[in-house]
Amino acid sequence: MTVNQLVDPNDPALRSWVESANDPAGDFPIQNLPYGTLDGGVAVRIGAKALRLRDALDADLLVRKLTDNEDFQYAAHTAWLNGIAELEPEQQSMLRRNLAHLFAAGSPAKAKVERLLIDAESPTDEPPFVVGDYTDFYASLHHATNVGSMFRPNNPLLPNWKHVPIGYHGRASSIVASGTGIVRPHGQTVSSDDGPPAFGPSKLLDYELEVGFFVGRGNQLGATIPIAEAWSHIFGFCLVNDWSARDIQKWEYQPLGPFLAKNFATTVSPWVVTREALEPFLVAGPPRSADDPKVLAYLDDPNGRNVDITLEVLVSSAAMRDKGLAPTLVSRGSFRDMFWTPAQMLAHHASNGCPMMIGDLLASGTVSGTTKESRGCLLERTWRGTEPIALGDGTERKFLQDGDEVVMRGWCERAGYPRIGFGECRGIVLPARA
Ligand code: MN
Repeated sequence: MTVNQLVDPNDPALRSWVESANDPAGDFPIQNLPYGTLDGGVAVRIGAKALRLRDALDADLLVRKLTDNEDFQYAAHTAWLNGIAELEPEQQSMLRRNLAHLFAAGSPAKAKVERLLIDAESPTDEPPFVVGDYTDFYASLHHATNVGSMFRPNNPLLPNWKHVPIGYHGRASSIVASGTGIVRPHGQTVSSDDGPPAFGPSKLLDYELEVGFFVGRGNQLGATIPIAEAWSHIFGFCLVNDWSARDIQKWEYQPLGPFLAKNFATTVSPWVVTREALEPFLVAGPPRSADDPKVLAYLDDPNGRNVDITLEVLVSSAAMRDKGLAPTLVSRGSFRDMFWTPAQMLAHHASNGCPMMIGDLLASGTVSGTTKESRGCLLERTWRGTEPIALGDGTERKFLQDGDEVVMRGWCERAGYPRIGFGECRGIVLPARA
């Protein structure tokens, strides 16, 4: 392997000898190459298959600049992506181009690589990163307006919202891998606004459709991440389900924001789509309207990078799965509609000198659009339960019931370019503990 053999995976004409990677409706063509953890090792996904990086290293399939790099050797032998995210951006780019060379149609490495491929669908029970900190934002104007109008009909958007990306500190310890069962949480809930509360299982369990991103290079305490550099500090993206107990949230959220209504579980999808793979799908965000405030200079993103990701939520009841019925499509929206961009969220987070660490997870907040069909949580989709949705087994849902499975999907499409996707973020609601 020499540096001259490296291949640009973002070349739209590139095809792979891994046949499942060339499915035009698939999520994982050679233009994607997301990373995850599989069989206890960091792996890259191609079609229905995956290659562990330590196997590629051991089989001498990588360029000297990688194999001789002790940081890379270490990263390839760990089970999580933190070490890969810690590599210099040039090294990350070289790795991705090296992997594209291995998987490209006509690659001389095919015979050696083919016997190392493993089945990518085998479940992993841990998130792809060791996450030290998790912050959840509230960056969709439509979500903030919808939710605000339910609770404050005359004043849906608080005066700060268009000036400052609002977020809360989540709990990294409750981040779980896709497929992990979600136990219905207990908490304090009230039947009238002023209480008194009772303690018991949440009756208003909800999902939130979000996009998350993992920090690559961070910043020291007291330093910042300038807005123009923020995109390059993001390692990659995943789908996030920020499970939410609305009845617990309603009683506890003032004055300090969400707490136990959120940190019983947050699910992340297994494959982390790199910043580089998403670059063909960057779009300008929605224009600020004439009466919107001018964004402050430290948040004025010269690159204006939103990512055009189509997002779906599907729900199935246990009865539907028993009968072999397909899950019901509940919503479809787009991440391109977000008011605040990922770079703005990250630059804002570090703007006070807060250190961002490798593997920190930042999530966007519920992604909702202008239409009913694009509302990214049941609270909005059923308008607080006043407009129930019908599932494929004839039952209705205002909020989630025990046995319900929530499946989130996301993908990027652009004319003349292969579709790339995120796979699935799944979770089944389990009964509350006795
Ligand atoms: Mn959220």
